Amino acid sequence: MDLGISGRRALVCASSKGLGKGCAMALAEAGVDLVLNARGAEALEATAEEIRAAHGVDVTTVAGDITAEDARAAVLEAAGDVDILVTNACGPPPGMWSDWTRDDFIAALDANMLTPIALMTALLPKMTDKGWGRVVNITSSSVKAPIAPLGLSNSARTGLTGYVAGTSRQVAKFGVTINNLMPGAHQTDRIVALEQSAAKAQNITPEEARKQRWATIPAGRYGTAAEFGAACAFLCSVHAGFIVGQNILLDGGAVNATI
Ligand code: NAP
Repeated sequence: MDLGISGRRALVCASSKGLGKGCAMALAEAGVDLVLNARGAEALEATAEEIRAAHGVDVTTVAGDITAEDARAAVLEAAGDVDILVTNACGPPPGMWSDWTRDDFIAALDANMLTPIALMTALLPKMTDKGWGRVVNITSSSVKAPIAPLGLSNSARTGLTGYVAGTSRQVAKFGVTINNLMPGAHQTDRIVALEQSAAKAQNITPEEARKQRWATIPAGRYGTAAEFGAACAFLCSVHAGFIVGQNILLDGGAVNATI
């Protein structure tokens, strides 16, 4: 399928690895020029080079923490008037409700709610002026089915989801869509780290921890960054203009719900 976005420009945040990289790669395959961001410059440049070599699109990199105001300003300056925005950043740490302080909540809200909102606030006016735009926020399946130790993440991402629900309906008439992708367990560095800590806690091998996790997913495996990226690219395509303010779960069936 021709996604109809060849020659468009996208900002993909937190995209040197994992799900962000999957989105960048799929958009590049559709002919989209990219502005990529991550904190570590080396991995970021390696990813940019991999994408240029694979798809021949123009790729600009801006290293920096997207949750920090100064780095975000530099990213936005490089992005200019992009047509597509994919927001992403690392999630808050796990913990226990009784330990979380006001400062912990402020940090989580800053990273996983106010950062994507700041990016949208900066870029949506340019999209609405042009009469076309796409925003995809990477959130989490925990918005639909809470993961108890990730209370900071559950709270911040649900706040972002509420913002998107209203704002997406305000910009839709200008040809701009905003949607959220909710990943369940995907094969990225992050999941490998989670397997290692689960293995340590239960005194089992990481392979056994993986089998345990797979048993909880009807698809019997993790998702891949490429599958995730393909869903993102479709939401950014010309074919997805009527998909507005949705939260799409990519979890192999792990959340056991009828709708
Ligand atoms: P990952 O494999 O660890 O990749 C994270 C990417 O984001 C890296 O390129 C990292 O590069 C960059 N990054 C992280 N924090 C950043 C920041 N503050 N500013 C700029 N770049 C940043 O992680 P992932 O698995 O793709 O996860 C992406 C998001 O999806 C996270 O919020 C995660 O909580 C959420 N999620 C993932 C899963 C899953 O199964 N993978 C499930 C549910 C939710 P640098 O470290 O160099 O900055």
